[in-house]
Amino acid sequence: MNCFHALLSRITLSLLLCLGFSACKPKNASEKHGPLQVVVTTTMLADMLKSIARDHIQLTSLMGPETDPHLYKASASDLEKLQKADVIFYSGLHLEGRMDDLFSRMKAQGRPIFAVTDNISEDQLLTPANFHHHPDPHVWLAPELWALGIDTVVDALTEYDAPHHAHYQAEGEALKEHYYALDAWVKNTLTVLPIKQRILVTSHDAFNYFGRAYDFQVIGVQGVSTAGEAGLADITHTIDFIKQNNVKSIFVETSVPHATIERIAADSGAHIGGELFSDALGTLGKIETGPDGETYDLGTYEGMIKHNINTLLKALL
Ligand SMILES: [Zn+2]
Repeated sequence: MNCFHALLSRITLSLLLCLGFSACKPKNASEKHGPLQVVVTTTMLADMLKSIARDHIQLTSLMGPETDPHLYKASASDLEKLQKADVIFYSGLHLEGRMDDLFSRMKAQGRPIFAVTDNISEDQLLTPANFHHHPDPHVWLAPELWALGIDTVVDALTEYDAPHHAHYQAEGEALKEHYYALDAWVKNTLTVLPIKQRILVTSHDAFNYFGRAYDFQVIGVQGVSTAGEAGLADITHTIDFIKQNNVKSIFVETSVPHATIERIAADSGAHIGGELFSDALGTLGKIETGPDGETYDLGTYEGMIKHNINTLLKALL
């Protein structure tokens, strides 16, 4: 084998190894051509990444509007996208339950993969009795809690794309302020709704952090995940609760089938007060106008929160 062929063999071997271990990938975007390739799982994360990184990254979201993350499995094309990514973000706390094993394997391989909920301390997490000792993953429904994921994103983008560090830092701080302002908007908007009317009955247990932040009593018929069917006992218990508490409106969710809530509404006499965004944003570009004339895009995180609050107020007041 001459020197040229020996060199070629070494390069081929390096390339093959790099296909399996992206730790070989340059950490600095300027060392390679084009923007940082970032892959996220959920639409809420896609919105966070867009806000922080804007056009400094090329963003791919595995899930789309109305996709249920509890049931989502990575397709062959998803695996390819994950393999090509420079940085990967997922929500964590077993939200993406059917990709847990995949993400664990990728971490063990040294892949650049980050759960944005990793730095939320245990004392800020809820572990309801029916969650089988796992923390509730639905932290994005309380903006102040969701803001805690921003530092993980900023730090990881900085690690893999240091030249844009100042941009990521500034936009990350601005996004925190935006989430805090959103939290203040929710509290202020809800002041007209008496505490005794703050009862949220919905398909699955996505709204526990929301309930804690804004004084709602929350009943999710089928537990934390959508993986199981609501049992007859859950349905009967919910109907009894609705009748005892004179709950006039209950709610369906965009990412969960409506049948169980429709049945409970029919059997309890409550009416369906509207459709809430729980585990996925809506379609980007679909604009809604709130009662105060303010418009918001249902495909954004802000749109998700404002739509939910305006829907709840309209139905529960
Ligand atoms: Zn959920």
